[in-house]
Amino acid sequence: MNTIVFYANFVLFCSRRVRLLRRRRQGEQRMSADSGIGSTEPSGSGPPRRPIHETHADIRTILQTLYGGLQAYQSGYGDYHHQLEEYVAAHFSTELISEILQNFEVAMLELPTPMSNPNMECFCIATLQVLFACPPFVNFIRTNELDTAAHDENVPTTRQAQIDRAMKSILAQFLVGSPIIHCTPLLQLVTNVNEQDAEEFFQTLHGLYCGEILPLPKQTTLWTCDSCHSVTISDPEPSIFNLPTRLPGQDRTNMMNLIFHKTGFETEKRICKFCKDYSDGFVHTKYIFSNILRVYGHTDGSHAEFEEVVDLTEIDNSGEPSMWQLAGTVHYRSFGNVSSGNRRSCDGHYTAVVYHKNRRFLMDDRKRMMLPTNSDVPHFYGEPYYAVYYKMDWMESNGRGQNQ
Ligand SMILES: [Zn+2]
Repeated sequence: MNTIVFYANFVLFCSRRVRLLRRRRQGEQRMSADSGIGSTEPSGSGPPRRPIHETHADIRTILQTLYGGLQAYQSGYGDYHHQLEEYVAAHFSTELISEILQNFEVAMLELPTPMSNPNMECFCIATLQVLFACPPFVNFIRTNELDTAAHDENVPTTRQAQIDRAMKSILAQFLVGSPIIHCTPLLQLVTNVNEQDAEEFFQTLHGLYCGEILPLPKQTTLWTCDSCHSVTISDPEPSIFNLPTRLPGQDRTNMMNLIFHKTGFETEKRICKFCKDYSDGFVHTKYIFSNILRVYGHTDGSHAEFEEVVDLTEIDNSGEPSMWQLAGTVHYRSFGNVSSGNRRSCDGHYTAVVYHKNRRFLMDDRKRMMLPTNSDVPHFYGEPYYAVYYKMDWMESNGRGQNQ
């Protein structure tokens, strides 16, 4: 995007934002007048909120320098990288970041913001692009107070709090459409340099950062004995959510195929604890879900396909309707030889396909491409490696409907 278009968009969404805020503030005033509760501002000792136009002026100045003041973008970890890191650390202050997180939303962006890859960070960038397209995850970044807690000098800074600080900074830069975003500070906290696998990165990040609030699914199996028709229910255990292999005659595997497999396609021979027969029985797997779900596409080289919206009611242990929206998929393209033991070594490239305001975008480091409806992702970008879904009614199931 050129500078002029960028500023036009920026000004547009600033003014839209001001209107939105004004409307919300009026609503709050009405509410507090009705309820007789005084100010809706927190009564704590926090600093007084700055007017939003001051935030915008700061952001405009910072972005202007990023466009023109710093020398032209250079990849690698040399002087440029160092200079940019210092600039971002100095200007995206904790206060400004928290102002941005309070006042900007992903949905306010006309287009998702690309991120820059100094060198072999594509696995991290692709993962973050998909996570930023996942509202429950973004909401977690915005609303958790890990970072605030870390400001207390008496509390030792945990790795989780450090990750949160880095994540909040990257999200804030993403939300204001910063022209150069590096994920290096986060990457250094989450992983070691030898690890370049997007799946491992997701797992490590998830476990260190949000595993308690947004746990991955646990599975429980219901085994129905063929002899006596009794049902044996297993204890819930963590589950790796994989697409199954292709069905005979199909050239693709997808989420519908997964539901089919989990609802009785699979059979197992067991000793039934009711009739004591060694009997056949079918297995129905149910899952305890949080609001996000990661699904691996690769099993046996099957062509993985992730439907945009899936109904998981039949495998959702809650018994409630369970509709899921695809946030995005991480794609991997191998450049030939898998040289090391690492399946996803650096001989390849990760990209992400994300859903943004009902459109699909291919995010390839600093490049962004809109994908036509119903078209396949160009073969050049390889196969979908994993997908992230989120529960469509995640706000309701959180019990905090007004957070976004
Ligand atoms: Zn039985």
